[in-house]
Amino acid sequence: MHEPDPMSFPKDGKRFTEEERKALVKKARPVFLERVAYYAPLMKVEPGRITVRTQKTRWGSCTKEGNLNFNALLLLAPSEALDSVVVHELCHLKYMNHSKYFYFMVKRFYPEYKQAQDWLKKNGAGLIRMLPKETLKRKRRRFRFFFG
Ligand SMILES: [Zn+2]
Repeated sequence: MHEPDPMSFPKDGKRFTEEERKALVKKARPVFLERVAYYAPLMKVEPGRITVRTQKTRWGSCTKEGNLNFNALLLLAPSEALDSVVVHELCHLKYMNHSKYFYFMVKRFYPEYKQAQDWLKKNGAGLIRMLPKETLKRKRRRFRFFFG
């Protein structure tokens, strides 16, 4: 189980440099692989490819092919928040929706789900604000190009 290291990320409104952002992704990848390897057999699901990167809009996602995508910023959250997102995405391998059956499964494998999600709702925006500005700029440029 990892614990967030307060010295490993900028505070007081500071942002990551691009190097720090890359280092975070590199550090987060084995943590996600380990948590997926722990939960997937318990939950009797088989994930496909696992991708870890920094994102501004989501903590995790699941494709219809069963590939999972996780936000490296979760490494800076309590381990409960990280685990809750891992369990959420793994449940999508059984239910590609947010039905009550989906949430039954989430709560079965992660009973403290609500507390973990509340932490993210309260503190998540602060984590996202730590991403370097260049990431935003690059995205905007691509967007403009796309729409001609
Ligand atoms: Zn979902």
